[in-house]
Amino acid sequence: MNMITKGTRIVILTGAGISAESGIQTFRASDGLWENHRVEDVATPQGWNANPQLVWSFYQQRRRQLLDVEPNPAHTALVDLENYLDNFLLITQNVDNLHGRAGSKQLIHMHGELEKLRCEQCNHIEIMMDRDHLGEELLQCTKCEGRLRPHIVWFSEPPLQLLEIDDALSKCDVFIVIGTSGNVTPASTFLHIAKFEGAHTICINLDPPENVYFFDEFIQGKAGEILPALVQRWIEK
Ligand code: NAD
Ligand code: ZN
Repeated sequence: MNMITKGTRIVILTGAGISAESGIQTFRASDGLWENHRVEDVATPQGWNANPQLVWSFYQQRRRQLLDVEPNPAHTALVDLENYLDNFLLITQNVDNLHGRAGSKQLIHMHGELEKLRCEQCNHIEIMMDRDHLGEELLQCTKCEGRLRPHIVWFSEPPLQLLEIDDALSKCDVFIVIGTSGNVTPASTFLHIAKFEGAHTICINLDPPENVYFFDEFIQGKAGEILPALVQRWIEK
């Protein structure tokens, strides 16, 4: 694909693969384990209700890890692309904060954010990343003293900002999917919405994902190696 201009409307969907080169493990769909835990135990409302301390500790570990990792060249390349284009949206399934820290602005975290905690009673959301909020003890809401939970979309919960996502997908010229296995719904349906509306579709991934044949283009490899060169080529043209 060589025909990118400032006016091209691009929507991007990223998954765990884009953060792999920063040192954050991907979710291994093959064995259903996320950092050695069953997803049912740590990524469902049932898991949280059954054992809040285990789930809390799991996400506190992920939250503390954010202090030790940095955005990689793939995150940065997407910032360069955003700065070049008039119309851009980045949708991420990731709950890490690397896109935001790299400088992405038009950004939707459809599966929530590790940085944030949410009150189970009043839904108040706060960014809580200082040392006092990264320990093993469960925390209370500063507004109503309700129990705080991770601001993460667990399996069976609805993803965030789907209306904005749908609107952007139905208007985009190019839809690019990066570093996602493509089998977590509804993200996997985004491809079909974009295609139905006539967008050119590109997949960049280390392994061919299950839905690889539905894309117009598949570029195999590491996002941190492919994206900087690709974006540079589009921008400099
Ligand atoms: P996934 O782990 O199911 O798939 C990751 C994909 O990325 C794989 O197909 C793999 O081949 C590819 N990949 C690995 N390294 C790559 C690289 N360097 N460059 C390009 N591609 C690479 O991830 P998913 O589809 O995003 O689904 C996982 C779910 O679990 C998400 O919904 C997310 O919320 C959560 N999760 C988030 C994080 C994070 O925030 N960083 C990490 C793990 C899991
Ligand atoms: Zn509250």
